[in-house]
Amino acid sequence: MNRPVDSVIDFLKAEEARGKSHVFLDQEARAGLRELYLYARNPAPPRETAETKTVVPVPFITEAVVAGTGKTEKLEGLRAQAANWAPAVALGTLRERMVFATGSPDAGIMLVGEAPGYNEEKEGEPFVGPAGQKLNDILKAMGVKREDVYISNLVKFRPAMARQTTNNRKPSPGEMAAFLPLVLAEISVVKPKIIIVLGGTTAEGLLGLEGTIGSMRGKWHDLSGIPARVTYHPSYLLQSGSNDVKRALWEDMLAAMGKLGMAVSEKQKGFFLPKA
Ligand code: URA
Repeated sequence: MNRPVDSVIDFLKAEEARGKSHVFLDQEARAGLRELYLYARNPAPPRETAETKTVVPVPFITEAVVAGTGKTEKLEGLRAQAANWAPAVALGTLRERMVFATGSPDAGIMLVGEAPGYNEEKEGEPFVGPAGQKLNDILKAMGVKREDVYISNLVKFRPAMARQTTNNRKPSPGEMAAFLPLVLAEISVVKPKIIIVLGGTTAEGLLGLEGTIGSMRGKWHDLSGIPARVTYHPSYLLQSGSNDVKRALWEDMLAAMGKLGMAVSEKQKGFFLPKA
């Protein structure tokens, strides 16, 4: 059977052979590409969304090559590929300094955010700005050291804006789709026991989810055979400050600790519960 995605692949190969670096795809082609990305993760067939109805630039699909012996060498290989990642270069919407990942390749917990911001670009490390400080607080409350987890972003470069100084923007669906094969390869190397997906935007790009963060969190998803928990982005905690949001995120962390078989104290269980 010729699926829509097969025609898209044929079309892209032909355009690439003609020397084109990127193309505009219509609704049908966009739906086909989405099917291809979701197929890589093997969930249910994709649904038609508002996004599939818009004409947006979509990069060529590039496979990430995992090579070398040992996790460190394999991750170094992925880092080198990410630095000159053709689908992202073709988009031309990202800045130049790469921010790859930090932490332990042997981590049981992998956390994935959306994209680096001003502080992360400056330091060359994910989650080092105010959202990073909040993430550090969360890890400390769990009794976990930052250097013992693996922290990454779906998009490896800071999304560019006109007249940009310290201001940041969220990555677009195209930017996230461009990096998805690379991050899936990163996950396949680290092989964490669980993945914590930070924020709704990351969940859309990484898990293909739609809807509100409320509908995405509070349950386990499957990401390449690894249990993945979506929770609020730490920057949302900084903006919202609401105790309900803090408790909801904390319940996701308690679930994560439970999944890992970590001991949870009575004190930890009670964090952010309303005072009786
Ligand atoms: N927000 C993210 O999603 N990632 C970072 O690295 C920093 C802020």
